[in-house]
Amino acid sequence: MNCIGSRAKLVDKSHSSIFMKIPLHLFNTLSRTKENFLPLKKVVTLYNCGPTVYHDQHIGNFRTAMSVDLLKRTLLLFGYSVKHITNITDVGHLTNDAEDTGEDKVQLGARREGLTAKQVARKYEKLYKEDVASLGVISPSKWTRATEHIAAQIDLIKKLERGGYTYRTADGIYFDSSKDENYGKLAGLKSVKLQAGIRVDLGEKKNPSDFALWKFAAKGVDRQMEWKSPWGVGFPGWHIECSAMAMKYLGETIDIHAGGIDLIPVHHTNEIAQAECATHKQFVRFWMHSAFVIEGEEKMSKSKGNVKTMTWIRENGFSPLDYRYLTLQTHYRKELSVTIDSLTAAKTAFAQIRNFVIDAPRGGKIIADKYIKFTESLSDDLNAPRALATLWEVLGGGASDADKRATIIKFDDALGLGLAKAKRAKVVIPTTVKKLMTAREKARKNKDWTASDTLRDEIRALGFEIKDTPQGQTIEPVL
Ligand SMILES: [Zn+2]
Repeated sequence: MNCIGSRAKLVDKSHSSIFMKIPLHLFNTLSRTKENFLPLKKVVTLYNCGPTVYHDQHIGNFRTAMSVDLLKRTLLLFGYSVKHITNITDVGHLTNDAEDTGEDKVQLGARREGLTAKQVARKYEKLYKEDVASLGVISPSKWTRATEHIAAQIDLIKKLERGGYTYRTADGIYFDSSKDENYGKLAGLKSVKLQAGIRVDLGEKKNPSDFALWKFAAKGVDRQMEWKSPWGVGFPGWHIECSAMAMKYLGETIDIHAGGIDLIPVHHTNEIAQAECATHKQFVRFWMHSAFVIEGEEKMSKSKGNVKTMTWIRENGFSPLDYRYLTLQTHYRKELSVTIDSLTAAKTAFAQIRNFVIDAPRGGKIIADKYIKFTESLSDDLNAPRALATLWEVLGGGASDADKRATIIKFDDALGLGLAKAKRAKVVIPTTVKKLMTAREKARKNKDWTASDTLRDEIRALGFEIKDTPQGQTIEPVL
């Protein structure tokens, strides 16, 4: 069965931007090319997959949130209104999402912290929202919680059942991916039938890529999050919430759906299958995915034990906006290396811009040609590194400081670095620097001047200058 009736038609709704002549090009994962973006209707509809709230988020998730924010700010810069939905996955999904097995994640978090599943979900939702706000991310038009949309998810499963896309096993209602001719188009997956040749333990699943729409409550397992459904008491599968909530608030065909690239092969592939088989319309016109965060050359992952959180960023003396500046230096589709060194370099560069904006006189005019150049960079699939280069051209150019400031503040509508409200940052000495200072004090007591000098260099590399006074060491940032 072909789940899409016809491709959604492109409607050119002209908008009131002075940049109407600059077409906006976005890379669409579906076509693997940059396409000219125009919204289907006047308001751009945007959905992105939000956090699963059972522990601290990885800085990679925040990179994705900032990439979506750059996209949204660029759309606003181009004169569009944006209706934006982000979901909160507060249903306890299983630790092995791809195979619909394992333990309930939220419940695992609850047990770890001595809280109820709901308390743990609300705790991490609050932390997530505070973190994204500190990173300058504009709130979505609405945050939607999966637990508050169970009825919409059940309705969507019922539609799929009526269409003949589902089957029942002992543990749940499954989506039959072999019924969808287009299954896997986003990821370029081979046909379901070919995959079925792979020897995997399918259990009662008919095809390896089939997935749970509704899981039954297992007997003898105490779960705090369960709901009644036409198929029995249980809980929704992980993927159904996004299709259901995206369509409820944004319509059956939405303009842009965004997320991290890790979501392409399973989660987004399944979102498309569920939505398009239920409506026979194209679900999403533009799929946009941001790349991973790495540490040097290494991928950050739980198994490697090098997963970093916003707490790690702060503990090392960086502000959330230092991290935002760092993410802007790399294109969103390229891997971003986050290390103390890359953060230190970003912090130094960002402080230079911020200090200029704080000190420069107000009341200047926007430098038009630079603004157009800046916008053109963003129009080319959100090329933030090139847009930043234009900012530095402005900073080093011959215009008056007032005009430079006005131009940079205007750029910041898209960059989101909070420059208009910037204040001189209080100097925070990172723990790593403090430790080096203690080591250096010891070295000096032992008259080990070589070690003392090496430590001074290490401290300097982290952005701080040591001075020796009769009262001991003093330290200040090299900015
Ligand atoms: Zn999703």
